[in-house]
Amino acid sequence: MNDTTVAAISTPNAPGGIGIIRISGPDALKIAAKVFKPMNSADIAQSKGYRAYFGSAEYKNEKIDEAVCLVYRAPHSYTGEDTAEINCHGGLYITKQVLRAVLEAGAEPAGPGEFTKRAFLNGKKDLAAAESVMALISASGKQAAVAALNTLEGNLSAKIKECCEKITGVCASLAAWVDYPDEDIEEISMAEIESVFESVKAELESIIKNYDSGRAVTEGVDTVIVGKPNVGKSAIMNLLSGFSRSIVTDIAGTTRDVVEEKIMLGDIILKIADTAGIHETDNPVENIGVDLAKKRLERAQLILAVFDSGDEINAEDISIIEECRGRKAIALLNKTDLPRVADREIIDRNFDRVVEISALTGEGAGELEKAVCEVLSAGDFDTNAACLTGERQRACCLKAANHLEEGLSALRSGVTLDAVNVCADCAVDALLELTGEKATSAVVDEVFSRFCVGK
Ligand code: GDP
Repeated sequence: MNDTTVAAISTPNAPGGIGIIRISGPDALKIAAKVFKPMNSADIAQSKGYRAYFGSAEYKNEKIDEAVCLVYRAPHSYTGEDTAEINCHGGLYITKQVLRAVLEAGAEPAGPGEFTKRAFLNGKKDLAAAESVMALISASGKQAAVAALNTLEGNLSAKIKECCEKITGVCASLAAWVDYPDEDIEEISMAEIESVFESVKAELESIIKNYDSGRAVTEGVDTVIVGKPNVGKSAIMNLLSGFSRSIVTDIAGTTRDVVEEKIMLGDIILKIADTAGIHETDNPVENIGVDLAKKRLERAQLILAVFDSGDEINAEDISIIEECRGRKAIALLNKTDLPRVADREIIDRNFDRVVEISALTGEGAGELEKAVCEVLSAGDFDTNAACLTGERQRACCLKAANHLEEGLSALRSGVTLDAVNVCADCAVDALLELTGEKATSAVVDEVFSRFCVGK
């Protein structure tokens, strides 16, 4: 249990109907009592939990605002600690004044995610559930929100626990047999170990697959728009984002920086970069843009390759086709409002998905949305299955699956059973890192550093 009391504004840093200043820790109620004066003169410091008081927030004996104070008693609060929440009007000045009064009354400023970190440290939620809080806050669509809520409510943790129990069940029998070979312990059959390892590994792989399908709706997919100059990349970006962010111009090579935007296509989030046309140039400034575009292209999870329907496919187009080989890519044949000159055959031969589009008239935008959804197989995302939240959890799952695979190979190649046991232990450790039971403090700190202050 933490012995410091922390406070922060939990509502957004913007004017709103209500602003909440949350105080959590052993002195939360004592500190709240110094700032909040209830109408009925009740002693907030001695209050029972689950109480709401109407009164006023004060700073240096002057009333700041009318307010309501909610009181929670440990362990029945979000953090598991004594907590007071002062609800005042959501003006920026007012909320900051109340926070200032609370800090001067003895609270320390809460760090990013500190309330949720305390909830984790106090056993209110495991690390996987804590991470889903941030995913829920940043969810920009229904599917992402449902998936995050399911994880918050323990869907994933329950599945991971089940996997751990299956592995540890085998480990216990293995350990007994390895440690006491002379005892009359029934030898666990190879087939039994193999079947448990295989089924848990398949379970983990399906969780990873579901996460990969869902990433398009939960976190967004790194996407690049590539194409030779003037094919209409910026125009397509503008069409997609619905407002002009990059300058659309007919002078070749003017889009020199990488402009990134998050856009929603149906339920899918594309983290989309409009890049300078990848082309040979002697202009050093343009070259910077071209280099940036190449880097983005390397790590992109989806490529939108644009071709000009009103122009011949030339060597520059061909080099872009080459870049897309073996990658998740959709060809966009732009400017379909102009008479067709480009040879569609060449594009059809090189891309599984070709969408005809006119950035000028907007024709084909619906087709593009359908193609993106299909290519990213976001339709396969099951929000009710165990859903991972973020790359950290994915890496833990993958590590566990790989250790089980090592265990299976060891088993099949006749290596001693204690080696198999080591693989099983490592798999369990990776899963316990996912739920936080065996995560190092560096991992925990890193997780919460990504949170916002006030959560
Ligand atoms: P970028 O260099 O690939 O980013 O190309 P831009 O988006 O700057 O577009 C180059 C030129 O093509 C501009 O003059 C656009 O107005 C024009 N353009 C873009 N899309 C279309 C389209 O669908 N139809 C027609 N007719 N012109 C387009």
